[in-house]
Amino acid sequence: MLTKKTKNNTKSYFFVLNHAINLINSKRFSKLYSVIKLVELTFYGGIEEIGGNKILLKDNDTKIFLDFGMSFGRRGNYFEEFLNPRAANGIGDFLELNLIPDVAGIYREDLLIHQGKKPELPDVQGVLLSHAHADHANYISFLHEKIPIYCGKTCKYILDAVKEQSRREIENEVIDFKKRPAYKKNYRDLPIARTFNTFRTGDKIKIDDLEIEPVHVDHSVPGAYGFIIHTSEGKIVYTGDLRLHGRHSHLTEDFVNKAKEERPIAMITEGTRIDTGKTNESEQRVYNKSKKNLEHNKDLSVVDFNFKDVDRFTTFYNIAKDLDRKLVISFKHACYLERYHKDKKLKSPDSRDENILILKPKRMTGTYIDEDYYDYYIKKRLNYPNVKTAEEIRKKPQDYVVVLNFWYLNQLIDLKPKGGMYIHSLSEPFNEEMEISYDRMINWIMHFNMNFVQSHCSGHINGYDLKSIIKEINPKSLYPIHTEKPESFKDIKVSTIIVKEGKKYKI
Ligand SMILES: [Zn+2]
Ligand SMILES: [Zn+2]
Repeated sequence: MLTKKTKNNTKSYFFVLNHAINLINSKRFSKLYSVIKLVELTFYGGIEEIGGNKILLKDNDTKIFLDFGMSFGRRGNYFEEFLNPRAANGIGDFLELNLIPDVAGIYREDLLIHQGKKPELPDVQGVLLSHAHADHANYISFLHEKIPIYCGKTCKYILDAVKEQSRREIENEVIDFKKRPAYKKNYRDLPIARTFNTFRTGDKIKIDDLEIEPVHVDHSVPGAYGFIIHTSEGKIVYTGDLRLHGRHSHLTEDFVNKAKEERPIAMITEGTRIDTGKTNESEQRVYNKSKKNLEHNKDLSVVDFNFKDVDRFTTFYNIAKDLDRKLVISFKHACYLERYHKDKKLKSPDSRDENILILKPKRMTGTYIDEDYYDYYIKKRLNYPNVKTAEEIRKKPQDYVVVLNFWYLNQLIDLKPKGGMYIHSLSEPFNEEMEISYDRMINWIMHFNMNFVQSHCSGHINGYDLKSIIKEINPKSLYPIHTEKPESFKDIKVSTIIVKEGKKYKI
């Protein structure tokens, strides 16, 4: 039986409950609630540096990362070719030197346990990966496998190509990873795969309450995207890396037009070349200059460019074809080209195309016998009909344009050019380490009496074009990253925030 006291208590309990329900339904409360609503950005990389973007976007309970890349600059402060972070210490070396942020709920269980920490359930619902460059993608390697990766279809093809022709290292386990520490008994364990959700422009991504629209942009790698993110406070746009002077500038224009329509409250922009003015660079100019130099060359032609750059490949493929020469690529390049060929939009030839040859490198015995090749990506392509040795090429060097990256310059000893032309179709050195490598490259070229030509156009938008697209998009606030000169954005008439690492910015 209820006593008078308990009856009164029950009454007052229901009164409070009722009042609470009314309050929740009231306008006043929803106003109050909207004040508590929180959209927040935290930057863990790309701050006063080019690349290494790791941006945490929090919208109430939803958290996503915009890219999770490797910072070459920070890594280079401590490491070089033979001084590397120790995989034997898991993420310990990376955390100690602030190459990755000390954030809970994002890292792989095996790596946390290795650090003597308790495993954590993932507290981030996804990573939006803008493109396949290492400074945006590579440190996904450390993330929990239950955090899905959202990227363009072509971006995934490129990540697959990278994986196919590289040895497994702790810093390149983007597609999948093997548990660490690496005990001998676990050597044959199957790798743990991450989830990739791929998209194309026009698709809409839903991550919890967030809706995201990826829009293609032009950059020096295909499958690059900018994002329009619909948060509870308004739209945030993220440029990724982009440019307006490339072969597909209309892609960037599409992104700018879409971003402009959305009247964004915030824009996170790359600013690699904010300090440059108008430039007259273009892929067509690279074609013209390179072709002009190569057409009178009566000896071997050698070129170095980044094979992730499909536009540059097309430029040299067309030059070789127009000059009635064969383009000679490596087995590593074949891994990329076969993926590009799969993507019908890119209109790239297959690695067995009639205008392409694949250079067989010397391995083990140096006699080109089959058992010399243990790397699977070479082994499975050894019987292609267009595989040639350096000895075969040097019989008629004027018939070929050989793509030779810096690390393979020693193959010049087999190719034996007597003069000829070397085209450096990459950016010029911009730090001390690159200068040293550059000097070595020049030594090789001089040793073989080759002529040197620089012929390149940048993957990044120039300062003039960037300022003009910011004005056009006209965001309420601007967050420049991926730049060494964020203060150079201050003269644009948009409220600009010079971001500090790890600081939370309410939007
Ligand atoms: Zn970048
Ligand atoms: Zn990039």
